[in-house]
Amino acid sequence: MIEYSKRKEYFRNRYLKAKSQRDSIASDWKKSDDKTMEWKSLKGPIHAISLGAGVQSSTMALMASKGEIQPMPSFAIFADTQCEPKAVYEWLEWLKPRLAFPVYVVTAGSLAENQLRIRVSKKTGKTYAQSQIPAYVKSPDSLGLAGRSCTTDYKVKPLLRKLRELRGESEVVSWIGISADEAHRMKPSLETWAKHRWPLVELNMKRSDCLAWMNRNGFPQPPRSSCVFCPFHSDEEWRKLTADELRFSAEFERKFQAVHANPSVDNKLNGVPFLHRSCKPIDQVEFSNHEKGQSLWGNECEGMCGV
Ligand code: SF4
Repeated sequence: MIEYSKRKEYFRNRYLKAKSQRDSIASDWKKSDDKTMEWKSLKGPIHAISLGAGVQSSTMALMASKGEIQPMPSFAIFADTQCEPKAVYEWLEWLKPRLAFPVYVVTAGSLAENQLRIRVSKKTGKTYAQSQIPAYVKSPDSLGLAGRSCTTDYKVKPLLRKLRELRGESEVVSWIGISADEAHRMKPSLETWAKHRWPLVELNMKRSDCLAWMNRNGFPQPPRSSCVFCPFHSDEEWRKLTADELRFSAEFERKFQAVHANPSVDNKLNGVPFLHRSCKPIDQVEFSNHEKGQSLWGNECEGMCGV
């Protein structure tokens, strides 16, 4: 058996090698002229949709099924945090039979439950809790945003795992449902065997064009997809939650605060976590009527959240 320090060094070297490979991909991507056509360089690739089950990715999937975006994808993958609003799960069930390709649902477990579980480290014996959501953290002298790894751990990684399993030896064109009005969110794939494609950007379709396309085709309006308690919600998005979903979020917030107030937890957040930037309990916030939705998503959320 390799001793601990050698194993640590081995994993560190592996991490540094992967990081340098990814940095180089990202830097080449920044220099390239036409980022939307890079996927054409792949040979005989599999086309796969990252399905967020919101407005943009649903429109893109339905357009592909009708042959309006080509080639036909081989499949779509929905990464489930198990915390989406009921409307998203209902929408997904509506959508699946209308697509000309299968939809695989993958999950890394319940994001909410995993934030509330207190664990014991096998290595150190200390108790710790996971904090993966971008909660607002208030302490007597500061207000900050907790580090976010939920998108990577609950959406990107499960999706990549499934893609690796399904691709065999083929390269992959991964379709991302980012619309032209959110083009600043385009990021390259960091895998050597995959490239991202943004069909809605290619077609210069904005979110409103997606809704208009759905309407023209007689389809209902898809819901917005994101975890019910996501701290990136605008007030408009909070207001759209059902009473049950708001109750769930308030209960989640209380339990999350209790975990990080527990003296036995070794890696507590440095303050009290809240879901709303006012740092009031979410069931006591008076949501503004004036703020438009998605403002925080456009600036903050990467990957597939909210698409
Ligand atoms: S919707 Fe929000 S809480 Fe859920 S994975 Fe995305 S960023 Fe995290």
